[in-house]
Amino acid sequence: MTKESRTAVGFEEGRTGGAKWFNDLTRSRFAGPVTPHHRVLSRSVSPETLAVHAGTYEDPVTGAVGTPVFQTSTFLLDDASYAAFSDGTSRDVPIYTRYGNPSQWSVQEKIAALEGSRSALVTSSGMSAIASTIYALTNAGSHIISAYDAYGGTYNLLREDMPSAGREVTFVDPTDLDAIEAAVRPETQLLFFETLTNPLLKAPSIRRIARIAKEANALLVVDNTFLSPVNMRPLDLGADVVVHSATKYLGGHSDLTAGAVVGRRKFLDRIWAQALRFGGTLEPLTAFLLERGLKTLPLRMRAQNDNARAIARHLAGHPRIAAVHHPEIGGARYADLERADYAGYGGMVSFEVRGGDEAALDFMKKLSIPYVATSLGGVESLVSMPSNTSHSSLTARQRAQIGINPGLVRFSAGIENAQDLIRDLDNALGTPDEDAPAEKTPDEKTPAEDASDEKGMS
Ligand SMILES: *Cc1c(COP(=O)(O)O)cnc(C)c1O
Repeated sequence: MTKESRTAVGFEEGRTGGAKWFNDLTRSRFAGPVTPHHRVLSRSVSPETLAVHAGTYEDPVTGAVGTPVFQTSTFLLDDASYAAFSDGTSRDVPIYTRYGNPSQWSVQEKIAALEGSRSALVTSSGMSAIASTIYALTNAGSHIISAYDAYGGTYNLLREDMPSAGREVTFVDPTDLDAIEAAVRPETQLLFFETLTNPLLKAPSIRRIARIAKEANALLVVDNTFLSPVNMRPLDLGADVVVHSATKYLGGHSDLTAGAVVGRRKFLDRIWAQALRFGGTLEPLTAFLLERGLKTLPLRMRAQNDNARAIARHLAGHPRIAAVHHPEIGGARYADLERADYAGYGGMVSFEVRGGDEAALDFMKKLSIPYVATSLGGVESLVSMPSNTSHSSLTARQRAQIGINPGLVRFSAGIENAQDLIRDLDNALGTPDEDAPAEKTPDEKTPAEDASDEKGMS
């Protein structure tokens, strides 16, 4: 068998050169990888349309409407494959699935389009995407700035693995721009921040952090898992690279684990080369599931934005709730929020049940619609407590320092009916208990600024 339609697959003729360019950040690159059968849409098309159509592989043999699952680990070798090896363009030709696979390329093109970029990489998990990105974009001897309340896996990678790999890390409060600026050193190479933090929903100014990064001649990587490109496109605000746990909103159905990296191809090629060595390959079947999930991302996000907002507003006035954390509720934490940078705030809302962790556990047991489970971003509502999951390795004092007070519950709103969710919350909360110990009012609470020493997985 030969591969007739494969001669020009993947890269534009005449633009590939012969250079070994993996580590050359100044060379200009093109988009992709894609084959001539992948649907590439203009980035000016609206997100709803991109979500459905961008990246679809239009099979010339069968005319299938959806991308076939290229469930194969390897591809026939021919002159184009050999040329790709010798030219250093093996990312653009189907050779071996860890290097690339048309099923991955479809979903990469869709995610790149949604984030307003030309190029993306999908990986086997969010952590695979994050680890590959951080290793690829820094050198030994460099310095990284990140948040002390970053996602547990990211925090542990930065804290446990970076020092032995020769990278020093400074952890700061992501909303304290002065602290970020003060942390910059001549050898600072990378700033890593999240668009919305877990579980307190701090919203750092990506626009202003990007300015600090530019000034420092460092790259800004943004974890956009909690907002998704429907609510914010960090690359438009000055970020260099966006990473995702596609396990959450991008997949959207709590049925897969995947990660994504998005940005200019000169960065993505380096990250791809790193991912090749780490081996976090996204399976073609999972790529298919992710592509299918992404088609409804804008619809799901809108429903989840609305549900979380409705829940936050309802609980803000509830006698059994001591505090609600959500950008729609306002308060000191969101005083400087550049609201024009957000189309919505996602499906997450966290709140403190009066009576502490025991009362919160009891409340969660009485809920009938949401599942008690960690993770977020699926069509079904999920509820969990940071104190006995993501932040269980902290002492009570450490938790208090970062603002996780007793009774804190994290609610990931799904796409169910908002009134059903609110009725369920009201039922589970019941009426205020006269005997419940008095708690601080939201006004008395102070966000802690101290970095914690240890942290578990989220
Ligand atoms: C879940 C999550 C990750 C890790 O993603 P996995 O797919 O579980 O590896 C990274 N960052 C954030 C913000 C997350 O919520």
